[in-house]
Amino acid sequence: MRPEILYPLFGSLTALKGIGGRTAAHLARLGLSRVVDLLWHLPTGVIDRSYRPNVAVAADGAIATLTVRILEHLPAPPGGRRPYRVRASDDSGEIDLVFFSTHRGYIAEMLPVGATRIISGKVEYFQGRPQMSHPDYILSPEAAASLPTVEPVYGLTAGLSGRVMRRAVEGALHHLPALPEWLDPALLQRQGWPGWQTAVKAAHAPISEADTEPLGPARARLAYDELLANQLALALVRERMKRRKGRAIVGAGALRAKVMAALPFALTGAQVRALAEIDADMKSDDAMLRLLQGDVGSGKTVVALLAMLSAVEAGGQAAMLAPTEILARQHYDTLKPLAEAAGVRLALLTGRSKGKARELALAALAAGEIDLLVGTHALFEADVAFADLVLAVIDEQHRFGVHQRLRLAGKGQGPVDMLVMTATPIPRTLALTAYGDMDVSRLDEKPSGRAPIDTRAVPQARLEEVVAGVGRALASGARVYWVCPLIEDSAAVDLAAAEARAAALRDVFGAAVGLIHGRLKGAEKEAVMADFVAGRISILVATTVIEVGVDVPQATVMVIEHAERFGLAQLHQLRGRVGRGVDKSTCILLYGSPLGETARARLKVIRETEDGFRIAEEDLKLRGAGEVLGTRQSGLPEFRLADIAVHGDLLAMARDDARLIIAKDPELAQARGQALRVLLYLFERDAAVKTLRSG
Ligand code: ADP
Ligand code: MG
Repeated sequence: MRPEILYPLFGSLTALKGIGGRTAAHLARLGLSRVVDLLWHLPTGVIDRSYRPNVAVAADGAIATLTVRILEHLPAPPGGRRPYRVRASDDSGEIDLVFFSTHRGYIAEMLPVGATRIISGKVEYFQGRPQMSHPDYILSPEAAASLPTVEPVYGLTAGLSGRVMRRAVEGALHHLPALPEWLDPALLQRQGWPGWQTAVKAAHAPISEADTEPLGPARARLAYDELLANQLALALVRERMKRRKGRAIVGAGALRAKVMAALPFALTGAQVRALAEIDADMKSDDAMLRLLQGDVGSGKTVVALLAMLSAVEAGGQAAMLAPTEILARQHYDTLKPLAEAAGVRLALLTGRSKGKARELALAALAAGEIDLLVGTHALFEADVAFADLVLAVIDEQHRFGVHQRLRLAGKGQGPVDMLVMTATPIPRTLALTAYGDMDVSRLDEKPSGRAPIDTRAVPQARLEEVVAGVGRALASGARVYWVCPLIEDSAAVDLAAAEARAAALRDVFGAAVGLIHGRLKGAEKEAVMADFVAGRISILVATTVIEVGVDVPQATVMVIEHAERFGLAQLHQLRGRVGRGVDKSTCILLYGSPLGETARARLKVIRETEDGFRIAEEDLKLRGAGEVLGTRQSGLPEFRLADIAVHGDLLAMARDDARLIIAKDPELAQARGQALRVLLYLFERDAAVKTLRSG
C-alpha cells in the first residue's frame, strides 16, 4: 500500500486550484494526469524578460519587455482570417500587437487607447514592421512589479499556454509533502545536493539556462532518486529470487555428450566460457540469475540447450520462453533433432495449443513426462504446472517484465534458475537499468567460418541497379530479404508500401517473391516463413516484422529501403538476419537523399562494423538513451527524470548504493529503509516493495 504521505502526489490534477476539466484534458495529452506527473514535468529552458529595448531596436525573434502607449485598435475585418491588431508605440517607433481569435471585449479592456502598458513577449518582424502576437504579459504601470524577470519554459501542447502550465505546476508544488530523507547524508554533502523538497522546487524555478542542465544539483538529485528507485527495486527482486535457497544442479554430462556429438560444429570459446559460468551458477545453491548477452547469430540457443540438459540430467525440467509464436516454433524445430539424439522429451506450448492436445501436454508436464518445454507467454497461464521446474530460459527477454520473471519463478517447487538471453546488444548502462546488477555472460565471438557481411549504402535513385544485383544473386541460388521502411506512423501506409514493392518485384521475379507483414495471422506468417526457408519463395519482402532471432542460414542478401529512417540498433538487428551461414552475405542500405547528419553518421557506423556492442555504444552517443531501443517496445524502463546518456555515472552509483542498502538492511526495516520504501512508492515500484516481509 502506498504510504499516506504520498497521497497528495497521486491525486488527480483537477483537485488542484485553477485546473478545470479542459486544462486537465490538455495536460492529459502530455501524459500528465496526477500531481506527481506535473512535478516530474521539468522545464526545458527559461524565458528571460530582462531585455527592455526601445521598440525601434527590439531584435527580431527576441523575448522583449516594452513600455508602450496604445495608439489605435484595428479590428479584424469580419469573416476573414486576418487578426485583430492594436497599434502601440514608444518614442522610438511603432509596434503592432496581434491577436488571433481573441475576444474583442478582452482586448479593449486590456489595451485602452491612450493608456501606457508594459508588454512582454516575442518580437517578430512582419513585412518590415515589428509586431508581437499574443503578448505573454500585458500590465499596467502600477502592476509592473508583478512581471517575473525569468520564467521556466515547459513542454506544451496545442491549447495549453505556458502561463496555464506554470500555474498548474505552482499548484502542484503547493502539495509537496515533507518526505523523510532516503539518501545517505554523506552522499548529499559530497555531491552538494539539496533535500528532495528543495530539489523539486529548485528544478521548477531555474533562473538561468544553466539551471536546466541535467547535471545541476537539483536535477541530478532527482535523477539519482529515480535511478536509485530503479536499482533498488531490481535488487530487491533479485534478492528475493536468490533468497530461496535451493539445491545444487549438477548434470552428469551424459545427455550433453550425446548432443555435442550430434552437433555439426564445435562450440566457440565464448560459448564454452558462458556454459562454464552457467554451470557454476547452477551448481551453487543460490538461484541463478544470469543474462546471456550475445549478438545476433552468436549461438545462444545451443548454450541454452546444453544448460537445460544439465537440469534434465539432474532429474528436473527446463522451460524455454520465447516472445512470439514464430520464435517458439523455430526454437522447437531447432531443438527437436538434438533432443531426439539425446533421448530427451521435448514439447511445445503456445497460445495455439488448444483443447485435447493442450490437456495432454499439461498432464504430461505435471507428471514429469516432458523434460523440456518450449513456449510463449502461454507458459504463464495458471494451469501450466511443472513436476519439477529447475531452469527457465527466457529468450529476447527485454520484452518481458520483472513481474513475468517472478511469475515464471513461481512455477518451480523450489527456486528456479533463470537464464535470460538477449540478442539486443544493450550497452552496459542500459542493461543495468533493465536487469539491475545481474550476472552477465557475453558471447563476444562469432562462430567461425562466417564471412563478414559486405554492407553498402546506395542512394534510392539507384534502385534499378540493386534490383539487377538481386537478380544475379537469385540466379546463383541466394535467398533475399527486402525490408520496407517505416514511412509514417501508420501500419496501413507501411503495409501499402510493402505491397507495392512486392508487386514491383513480382513484375521482375514472378512467383519467387513473398510478402510478410504484421497484419498476417500467426499461421499465415509461419506459412510464408516456411516457404522462404524451403526455398519456395526466394525474395521475402517484409515490413519490419521480420522476427528478431529468425534463423534462415541460406539467406545471404538483405536490402533495406530508406535505411536512413531506421535506428542503429534496428539496422543491426535487421542485418543480423543474414551472414548466418558460411556463404558471403551482402547488405544494401538504400537511402533517400539528402541525408541528414545523424542519418549519415548512422549509416557510416553500420557500414564500418558488425560489432553489436560498438554499435550500441555509438547509438547511445547519437541519440538519447530513451530512444536507443525504442524504449517502449523494448520493455526497458523509461525514466522521467534521468537520462542515461548523461546520468550514466549516477546509475553506477545507484547500483552500488542499492547493493549496500540490501546488504545492510535487506527488509528495508530501519529508519533509512523506511524512507527508501517511500522512495520506491514515489517512483511506483510498488511490486518491489511487495517482496518485502512487511511491505
Ligand atoms: P542467436 O545467438 O542469434 O540466437 P543462434 O543460436 O540462432 O544465434 O545461432 C545462429 C546459428 O549459428 C545457428 O544456425 C546455429 O546452429 C549456429 N551455431 C551456433 N553455434 C555455432 C558454432 N559454435 N559454430 C558454428 N555454428 C554455430
Ligand atoms: Mg536466438
